[in-house]
Amino acid sequence: MIDMKTQAYFNTGEGDSLQPIDIGHRDYVCVVSADTAFWALVRKDRVSGTQNESSLLSEYCKKAKSFADEMHALRFKLRPSAVYFNPTDRCNLNCSYCYIPEDLRKSGTHMSAAKLLKALETLKGYFKSSLPREQKPQIIFHGAEPLLNKEAVFTAIDRYKKDFRFGVQTNGTLLDGDALEFLTSRDISIGLSLDGHTDSIADRLRRNWRGEGVSRKVKEVISRLKGYQNYSVICTVTRENVSSQVKIVELFHHMEVPICMLNPVRCTLPGGYRQKPSDEDAAAHYMSALDRAYQLYKKTGRKLVVANFANILISILAPTARRLMCDISPCGAGRCFFAVSSKGDMFPCSEFIGVKKFRGGNIFRDDIRAVLKTAAFRSVTERRIEDIAPCSRCAIRHFCGAPCPAEAWTINGRMDSRGAFCRFYEEQVRYAFRLIADNNTDAYLWDGWDKGTLTTFNLTGK
Ligand code: SF4
Ligand code: SF4
Repeated sequence: MIDMKTQAYFNTGEGDSLQPIDIGHRDYVCVVSADTAFWALVRKDRVSGTQNESSLLSEYCKKAKSFADEMHALRFKLRPSAVYFNPTDRCNLNCSYCYIPEDLRKSGTHMSAAKLLKALETLKGYFKSSLPREQKPQIIFHGAEPLLNKEAVFTAIDRYKKDFRFGVQTNGTLLDGDALEFLTSRDISIGLSLDGHTDSIADRLRRNWRGEGVSRKVKEVISRLKGYQNYSVICTVTRENVSSQVKIVELFHHMEVPICMLNPVRCTLPGGYRQKPSDEDAAAHYMSALDRAYQLYKKTGRKLVVANFANILISILAPTARRLMCDISPCGAGRCFFAVSSKGDMFPCSEFIGVKKFRGGNIFRDDIRAVLKTAAFRSVTERRIEDIAPCSRCAIRHFCGAPCPAEAWTINGRMDSRGAFCRFYEEQVRYAFRLIADNNTDAYLWDGWDKGTLTTFNLTGK
């Protein structure tokens, strides 16, 4: 029985829009209500009846408000629970696609240990008053290269290990045996970067200031981390390595990396934009790499989770269980986390560090709550996909989010525009729906990803 007070039809009057999308599957198409991120897979021979399929409509009507509320809460009601903390501006590498301005990486400042501890004390107080007691906030030491300021970072980790979960995103070059022992014995999450399966590819873009590649050192660190589960490796996908993503997956799997990311290069500075592969190339080789990760899992029983894809898949299956917050609008910048520079300046995300317009305040001088409400932060936290063309009419807008505002601003000079990889997102969402149609998603996800999730809609027809 259809509740006439809520909705009589799809696509007319106040009824929700249900957009069919071709997912490239032999038997199924997907219908999506873009506003609520509700979707259903429908057999191709039955799609014409979907719009007035009474069981689908009536079941959807019962749940539509809760879907809309859930999406609204995810998009507008979260509070920051993590900080990307840059304890130094400097980096010992000069990767050509880096989003941090070169002069900062060359001659910027280190934060002193005393100031770092003071900043963490301020953050501890802020999170204590803003998060539920059982939720431990996260600090990710980020770069530039945080381990150039290793003593301050390690002192802070030991002083505040009860108050925060810590992570370190590092280029790996300064990870000697002692540093690895320190981090792994405390179960600190470690993020590394390696951009190729051969030294020549990996070293083309990630080099030190003398022009020497560092991939051998990173591979040595990966070997030493074998068996440690709390680390991941990012491969930044550029023109240089776009066609070797399958080989990269093979190398990571061979080296027993538990989690990787195949992240298309962020085009927030000209160096990144120059390295941008075409969306079509990026998507085709990425999907082949996902296929390969699946084959290797089937062959060996060992998973290599490609986390940026897993996140898209989860955003479809269980929107609020997603872990990364780039693929939703507004993105996580400034509302789920924020970034702190070596001078204590606060930005919505590390991608904005160095761009004055987006500096909201300073952690040593300003109230964090007030900073989160500044125009600088609001220009990011209030960037809504509904105001962006063509995203406002895109069926997959809540699985993509038109990332990234920093890219949109740099490339187009406007926040209300798309980022760099629209077609790439379209293809990965289609790939995700094909897996769902084939009931084959677990192989691509973290074990236990659904712990704590509830099935809120399950209508299976013939
Ligand atoms: S960037 Fe492209 S895929 Fe993403 S929401 Fe916009 S139109 Fe859709
Ligand atoms: S989309 Fe861009 S600005 Fe937003 S969180 Fe991701 S990297 Fe940061």
